[in-house]
Amino acid sequence: MAVEVRTRYAPSPTGYMHIGNLRTALYEYLIAKSNNGKFILRIEDTDQERYVEGAVDLIYRTLKLVGLKHDEGPDIGGEYGPYVQSQRKDTYMPYAKKLVEQGDAYYCFCTKERLAKLREEQEAAGMTCRYDRHCLSLSKEEVERKLAAGEPFVIRQKMPQSGVTTFEDAVYGTITVDNSELEDQILIKSDGLPTYNFANVIDDHLMRITHVVRGSEYLSSTPKYNLLYKAFGWEIPTYVHLPLITKTDGAKISKRAGDASFEDLMEMGYLPEAIVNYVALLGWSPGTNQEIFSLQELEKVFNIDGISKSPAAFDFAKLNWFNGEYIRKLSLEEFNNLAKPYYEKAIANKNIDFMKISKLLQVRTEVLKTIPETVDFIDALPDYDKELYVHKKSKTNLENSLESLKAAVPVLEAIEDWNEQTIHDELLKLVEKMGIKNSQMLWPIRIAISGKLVTPGGAIEIADILGKEETIRRIKIGIEKLSA
Ligand code: GLU
Repeated sequence: MAVEVRTRYAPSPTGYMHIGNLRTALYEYLIAKSNNGKFILRIEDTDQERYVEGAVDLIYRTLKLVGLKHDEGPDIGGEYGPYVQSQRKDTYMPYAKKLVEQGDAYYCFCTKERLAKLREEQEAAGMTCRYDRHCLSLSKEEVERKLAAGEPFVIRQKMPQSGVTTFEDAVYGTITVDNSELEDQILIKSDGLPTYNFANVIDDHLMRITHVVRGSEYLSSTPKYNLLYKAFGWEIPTYVHLPLITKTDGAKISKRAGDASFEDLMEMGYLPEAIVNYVALLGWSPGTNQEIFSLQELEKVFNIDGISKSPAAFDFAKLNWFNGEYIRKLSLEEFNNLAKPYYEKAIANKNIDFMKISKLLQVRTEVLKTIPETVDFIDALPDYDKELYVHKKSKTNLENSLESLKAAVPVLEAIEDWNEQTIHDELLKLVEKMGIKNSQMLWPIRIAISGKLVTPGGAIEIADILGKEETIRRIKIGIEKLSA
């Protein structure tokens, strides 16, 4: 029987989900699902100093929002729990001790001060900073004595001093490093907790993870993990390291530099489905021209072979395009519900029918956060330059615009049932009577009632949204402006 594919998303609760994290989670999920396997959530919180309150909830919320449902995890349990590393404290030490017994690890009692001094000396000598194996030479008796005396210690992995370690990565191919380059990394810290470097190996093994998917920044540590698997005689998982995500200028994306996290994108009004679709293609290609994929489709077509090792650039313009496509797929009601909070930011007038605005905006919006600046003129007429009335293509100038506005007022005042149809019919009748072009009436009206060069929808739609009284009031302001 084939081994069940098991992947894990193993975030450290740092308080935000950057795009790289989300992509890792997505690819883990897709590798599991496209193979009928299991997707496991494991919280890696052994670095207590980095722990952020509420960060775990954020992870649950995000996974839920984007539809990545885990099959095992802290909140739902599973056969290989607990799924929070701090709750597995006692699991790691026996394995570390076993390595010590085998001669693959050793106790280190070096003080912070000694290590700092060592680093200083190495730096001064222009050497790479690394542990000098000072404690490797301690005799068994000395170690026993220090332990019995309660001296603080860490446990370090003992790297081979010669030879090479080679491994296969599903994306990067064969990677070979000289063992002499590997530092004797810490496995168990002085607080008794494992480092990430140790815990990830133990847990991936105990949780029967078959595919380890993570950012390429872990590629250089992977030989050390492999030496651990070898020391235990465990099977090495398939490694899938993912390329860097950069900005369009090639610089690395980082939260610290203010680059958007998943939460930031949500705040800006991107739809989770659009983000997922876009992120899926950041480093993976289906091998066809198809760009729009639902999560369900991705679950079927995703494959490791489509992952590329060249850096993927995060391009807002492209994400905007995806978001627009997903906005168009919504029903008008769904769009209106999403847009409502953005309307409310810009429009205080309770008489405005948001649905009418949504009809205009759904076809042209890419990002919801642009809505307030697009619709704010509905709430209050901005001050505008009368040069806006001059438009070559519409054949308008200051004089004929004034004439059109003046003629429109009594006609609009006479409309009893104010709606798009009646406004349209009456204005066009007037156009015919005056013997002018449609644009010579509609351009000045649109400018007068919006005060903007670019608006969602034309004069008639905007007049309908504003209502009769406000439309006429604004046209009169336009007349004053043009008469001055
Ligand atoms: N806890 C690590 C991180 O958040 C996980 C790396 C891995 O997936 O092995 O970066």
